[in-house]
Amino acid sequence: MAKIFCVANQKGGVGKTTSAVNLAAGLAKVGQRVLLVDLDPQGNATMGSGVDKRQLVLSVYDVLLESASIKEAATFSEKCGYHVLGANRELAGAEVELVDLERRDQRLKLALDVADSDFDFVLIDCPPSLSMLTLNGLCAANGVIVPMQCEYFALEGLTDLVNTIKQVHANLNPDLKIIGLLRVMFDPRITLQQQVSEQLKAHFGDKVFNTVIPRNVRLAEAPSYGLPGVVFDPSAKGSQAFVEFAKELVQRIPTL
Ligand code: ADP
Ligand code: MG
Repeated sequence: MAKIFCVANQKGGVGKTTSAVNLAAGLAKVGQRVLLVDLDPQGNATMGSGVDKRQLVLSVYDVLLESASIKEAATFSEKCGYHVLGANRELAGAEVELVDLERRDQRLKLALDVADSDFDFVLIDCPPSLSMLTLNGLCAANGVIVPMQCEYFALEGLTDLVNTIKQVHANLNPDLKIIGLLRVMFDPRITLQQQVSEQLKAHFGDKVFNTVIPRNVRLAEAPSYGLPGVVFDPSAKGSQAFVEFAKELVQRIPTL
């Protein structure tokens, strides 16, 4: 059975997409069969995986509206080594179109049920909101990976996300839990970041992943080449950290 994880955080610009594409590439690198689902109409995860969002014939939009299966709509990115179910601006319309449909929050789950045996991991890159799109992601997932920057308001933002996950767990998806918090864009020279990092560990214990992703310009440059950092520059510190993170996640699976 595939492990299905949402990469989510209600804040924008915290590193969700960077984490999703690099974790996908890291998992592929250690031999896992991976599907990356882009649930953000911005399509950054799609472009960052070497798939041109403007050229998509079928996308996650078609899957949500049940006019295509995942097998039909996903493309394999040769360069990255994983499958991509892409998104583009069309997806913004799905929000409205889903409103009147039955089981509107379960569409992605139903589609993934069929594709389950084709993958070891499914990673879902969520948009920065609790929209019908994110809800589809949370209903389809076994768990949530939360990338976060160790900044002053980080813990406050987390309360909202934790409450959302609790609500979805109680009402829609009893499987859902927080898999872990991933510290990203970390700069150990900044005392405040160290302090917040310690607070996180004190508060969330082993829900905080051991691997820390450093701030690394190569990770920020990679998307302009249509690649995850892990593929663009495997020797960069940030890329190595994501491969380590992929290994940590694989090791954690039996304990989940
Ligand atoms: P989100 O998907 O949450 O909006 P992104 O992954 O797009 O966030 O990241 C926001 C910005 O931060 C992007 O410009 C990205 O390249 C940059 N970024 C993300 N992670 C890192 C990192 N570890 N080091 C340096 N820049 C990063
Ligand atoms: Mg994003």
